[in-house]
Amino acid sequence: MDADLILVGGGLANSLIALAVAARDPSRRILMVDAGAPAGGHTWSFHEPDMNEGQRRWIAPAVACAWRGQEVHFTKFSRRLRTGYASLTSQSLAGAVAACPSVTRIQARADRISAECIETDGNRTLRAPCVVDGTGRVPEAYMALGWQVFVGIELECEAPHNRAIPIIMDARVPQHGGYRFVYTLPFTDRRILIEDTRYTDGAVLDDADCAAAVGAYAAARGWSGAEVRRERGVLPVAMAFDAPAFWAAAAGGAVPVGMRAGLFHPVSGYSLPLAARVAEVVAAHPGDTEIVFAAVRRFALAEARRQSYLRFLSRLLLRAAAPEERRKIMEHFYRLPDALVERFYAGRLTLADQARILIGKPPVPIANALACLRERPLLHDARRKRGYDGPAVLAEEQAL
Ligand SMILES: Cc1cc2nc3c(=O)[nH]c(=O)nc-3n(C[C@H](O)[C@H](O)[C@H](O)COP(=O)(O)OP(=O)(O)OC[C@H]3O[C@@H](n4cnc5c(N)ncnc54)[C@H](O)[C@@H]3O)c2cc1C
Repeated sequence: MDADLILVGGGLANSLIALAVAARDPSRRILMVDAGAPAGGHTWSFHEPDMNEGQRRWIAPAVACAWRGQEVHFTKFSRRLRTGYASLTSQSLAGAVAACPSVTRIQARADRISAECIETDGNRTLRAPCVVDGTGRVPEAYMALGWQVFVGIELECEAPHNRAIPIIMDARVPQHGGYRFVYTLPFTDRRILIEDTRYTDGAVLDDADCAAAVGAYAAARGWSGAEVRRERGVLPVAMAFDAPAFWAAAAGGAVPVGMRAGLFHPVSGYSLPLAARVAEVVAAHPGDTEIVFAAVRRFALAEARRQSYLRFLSRLLLRAAAPEERRKIMEHFYRLPDALVERFYAGRLTLADQARILIGKPPVPIANALACLRERPLLHDARRKRGYDGPAVLAEEQAL
């Protein structure tokens, strides 16, 4: 055996697994295999209440920046929320993983991934009792998706930008192409990340247009300076997810985690909070692939069920509202109490929260909203497209 645990992919999900496992049992030998170099120029952020205290403790070495509070801006109102916010960067995450003596990282592409081993592009076979697949590809065949596309540019400003806390959404910008907002993270008094984000129906990102919008936003605030980093994202927004079918098809293989397992927030497309929880599930099960698969599958199916309301909100956002009207839904949402907003991002809405979000003057036509109630029609579409494996899916559904 080459390790106790092989992590295929060294992105967010598997890096968090490495940290959680190393924190819980430093004697468990981990081999992380990634096709790319460790520091890829990403930023991953989370709202502080997304994590419990234990998670915050083992993630702390990977946190590059944290802020007390955040703001949102809409045309009709602005608001400061008390909620803390924090970011990991590729460098800080890779550094935290590299500091774990039990983790070895190698650069290789896995051409074949199975429950017992992987075959790399260098014709090596690497074996471990447990193999985890965190290669990042979203299981689109099992989902109905909209998209959140963005370009982020990090500027080193010539003068202080005078921002102290993140702006999670500045939606006072023209709404062409879908719900559009600008997101800013002030890393230092001169360093700031500015992202132009759009909720769109297609996965098409117009890099030049988004970059120009970032430039215009910065110029309007008098922020000028050198671009030090750029990132682009095409994040899935889940309107429907056939999780039972996905897990039925994955059975017998390596343990899928992260985006690969559809483990992300259906509305925001963010995966960090769920990745932290899955990391703890893996750390708590020091067994072989079959044992870890069963534990992660149990967690993921329960989570997929809990997320059904969030997928309904995604359908409201993308199906019930015309692209230029989508802002109204978020505007309506951000008038709700801080604690509810926190529970939304953490994926822990209560039944009362769910009712509260829908109460009041509806931001979309009622008939459109009613047409979005059911997820099943979208699931049927997805099943038809990939050829429906009836018996396996029914068995999974009954197991729920
Ligand atoms: C630009 C951007 C910003 C984002 N910001 C946030 C955020 O702020 N907060 C948040 O919660 N979410 C964010 N997300 C969403 C999500 O959390 C990220 O996509 C996250 O990186 C997903 O983690 P993952 O581990 O599933 O996949 P990835 O991080 O994409 O990792 C997959 C890894 O697998 C490797 N790989 C793929 N195939 C192979 C192979 N065959 N062999 C070996 N290695 C392979 C890749 O090189 C990659 O390193 C962001 C996404 C993007 C694109």
